[in-house]
Amino acid sequence: MPLRLFNTMSARVEEFDSLQPNEVRMYACGPTVYDYGHIGNFRTFVAVDVLQRFLRQSGYKVRYVMNITDVDDKIIRNSARDGVPVRQYTEKYENAFLEDAATLNIQQPALVRATEHIPAMASFIARLEHKGFAYRTDDGSYYFRIAKFPAYGKLSKKDFAGMEDGARVDVDEYEKDNARDFALWKAPKPGEASWDTAIGPGRPGWHIECSVMSMEELGETFDLHAGGEDLIFPHHENEIAQSESLTGKTFANFWFHARFLLVEGEKMSKSLGNFYTPRDLVLMGHKPSSIRYLLTSVPYRHQLNFTFDGLKQAATSVDRLRNFRLRLSQGQFPAGANEAMAKLARETVERMKSALEDDLNTAQAQAAIFEMVRTANAAFDAGEIKKDDVSPLFVAIEKFDEIFAVLADDDVPKMKAILEWARSTGREKDISKELQDLVGSGALSDAEVEKKIADMNAARAERKFKESDALRAELTAAGIIVENTKDGVRWRRK
Ligand code: AMP
Ligand code: ZN
Repeated sequence: MPLRLFNTMSARVEEFDSLQPNEVRMYACGPTVYDYGHIGNFRTFVAVDVLQRFLRQSGYKVRYVMNITDVDDKIIRNSARDGVPVRQYTEKYENAFLEDAATLNIQQPALVRATEHIPAMASFIARLEHKGFAYRTDDGSYYFRIAKFPAYGKLSKKDFAGMEDGARVDVDEYEKDNARDFALWKAPKPGEASWDTAIGPGRPGWHIECSVMSMEELGETFDLHAGGEDLIFPHHENEIAQSESLTGKTFANFWFHARFLLVEGEKMSKSLGNFYTPRDLVLMGHKPSSIRYLLTSVPYRHQLNFTFDGLKQAATSVDRLRNFRLRLSQGQFPAGANEAMAKLARETVERMKSALEDDLNTAQAQAAIFEMVRTANAAFDAGEIKKDDVSPLFVAIEKFDEIFAVLADDDVPKMKAILEWARSTGREKDISKELQDLVGSGALSDAEVEKKIADMNAARAERKFKESDALRAELTAAGIIVENTKDGVRWRRK
């Protein structure tokens, strides 16, 4: 069966068909790097990661591009507030995004940065103006004239008839029913970053960034454009207006939107105190693999209600899968084959495939693997798994993990890196006991190091060398370098 996906443009589930045989060109709107990404952002990025992984597993060559929005209203405002250049401001959060994505086993797309495509954006706007789709205002800003693009609203299914021609909005994000000419280019304001270009000085609006970079990387028409559901309007509607009015061609064939995540049944927000980044969760002692598993456990078009109970259950699920694989790799099996096991493994692979082909039904794919694990574990206990059954069962587990990517037992080093980040950024108070226990001795706090050094010195003074050596070895194993200087004992972290 071919892959079937919901297309926001047609508002129905459609058979996915690529423009070029066996090749998919897709674009996802990436993060605006003005802060750390939260689990809602990663819900969407993980959903798109699952999609691109499944396309690859299905035999497609995938060209997957994501932008980094490193210039927008919020970034300009914050960098001006902090008195630092835009690049310096965004670099930190861009790196943090890449680290978090890697922590969640998101395969890295080809990345493009908005600030590296400014001349192309200016030229795009100049061409829009030439065709009558854009106009310049007295201050040197440029706006898109939506009255010239009658298809405006076709993605979000909004009817903008009767809207006022020439009414403008100059912020990047605005109210849902606001059909106004939107800013393509913003004239410089005192103290704000700007670029000198062929259309004058200023900076691009958010929407033009994605139109320009996606078309530059993937062509005037490409297969699929993705993002969270909040981007349908105005962002994607505006991208379509800009791109299609310039080329006269369809911009993207498929529009893929992930539904917003809730936390404990509520909209995630800082003011409600239910706002979490993946780093926050790791500091609380949760594993990256549990987070990823939970984010994939509800199909992308369904509301995912993130709860701490759910996160614990996700951890249990990942453990069960890892234990099963361990059992398979370490077990001793009698020679021969149990045809029922090979059949079970084959059917599981088929069930996972059909589940994912059904608009990426990740929940059903997970149910299929768990059913296999349950049956195979029972067979294992009854001594009914034979040597030749191991390989097909492995194949099923591996196929699952090509998509879900939770089986590699690499949580501890990732958690350790986050713990060290917390220490180096003054967030020591957020490091939970659970996290410390999980990462083991590597997680010694400053106070604990001091205490061990004091104990070591005391033992040495009492000539209890075995005890002092053991303490020293413990510190070394925890990456603590202890030096005896003439001013006494000093220590540092490796
Ligand atoms: P931003 O950095 O705000 O531009 O967002 C990056 C991506 O995260 C976009 O695709 C958003 O649609 C998506 N996003 C933001 N909040 C949530 C949420 N609560 N649930 C799911 N996706 C979200
Ligand atoms: Zn975008």
